Amino acid sequence: MKKACVIGWPIEHSRSPLIHNYWLKKHGIDATYEKQAIEPENAAQFIAALAVSEFVGCNVTIPHKETAFQAVAETDKIAGRLGAVNTVYVRNGKACGTNTDGEGFIASLHHAYPAFGLKNKAAIIIGAGGAAKAIIGALIDAGVARIGIINRTRARILDLQAQFGSQIIEINETAANDALAACDLLVNTTSLGMEGGTEIALDIQHLKRNALVADIIYVPLETALLAKAKQLGHPVLGGLGMLLHQAVRGFELWFGVKPEVTEELHDLVAADVQKASKQ
Ligand code: NAP
Repeated sequence: MKKACVIGWPIEHSRSPLIHNYWLKKHGIDATYEKQAIEPENAAQFIAALAVSEFVGCNVTIPHKETAFQAVAETDKIAGRLGAVNTVYVRNGKACGTNTDGEGFIASLHHAYPAFGLKNKAAIIIGAGGAAKAIIGALIDAGVARIGIINRTRARILDLQAQFGSQIIEINETAANDALAACDLLVNTTSLGMEGGTEIALDIQHLKRNALVADIIYVPLETALLAKAKQLGHPVLGGLGMLLHQAVRGFELWFGVKPEVTEELHDLVAADVQKASKQ
């Protein structure tokens, strides 16, 4: 029987087993997908040994994505660009790594708003961490013309400029309103807005009419930023879709079937998030 897992530290919060076990059942595949709590000092060894283990692969979550990048035998172009791996699969006796966060975001956007084109659009990303980098790379691949970045630590914006070039524009406080007025897609990739945490201070009153507002946080399912955007009449996109869509390629690599992100799966994971919120 095939086995796959998600590794992280801590790992209890992970919804990946819910997603992959839903698809395993749906496709009648005799396999298991489980959580593995792996301490940071053991992560590299676990990943390097995957090729000779009982596992066909694994998902990798915080804080192991960079370690996974170093530990696998091979990485593809996307993982190389990010220096981070979220999906490991075994091929020809080797542990190989890729990163599906960026494609997960784009697929979620297309799924929710099929008519929203990205070519030549202007985006603003709040945040400059790992998830921001994955989404920036995917937006550039999708033809977005320019990407403004708002981030607490300026050095990380400069790093993104050095990596991705002149399409990346630093947005400081004084330029924020003008940039928002010309923006087609605003994405929060910071952890600001998570349940019980600090909210984003950005005022979106001046945001271009009809601009799409996305948040990659999914606990809560609707952040204060999205609630405000909705109130102002903007189309909005929560982070749960990205989580579901980033899981698709791993499942296909491990089990040979491309699974679908159905309404039923969305509702199943959303209910689990809501249940956890009430506890
Ligand atoms: P990361 O690499 O640690 O980056 C965190 C980002 O948040 C940085 O830009 C950081 O700014 C900013 N930030 C954190 N605390 C802040 C504060 N108090 N004030 C201002 N800025 C703050 O993390 P990540 O891996 O990119 O993940 C970011 C978020 O995305 C997390 O909430 C994660 O759960 C979520 N995520 C969701 C999905 C999904 O599938 N929906 C996938 C991946 C990640 P500095 O640079 O100034 O530190």
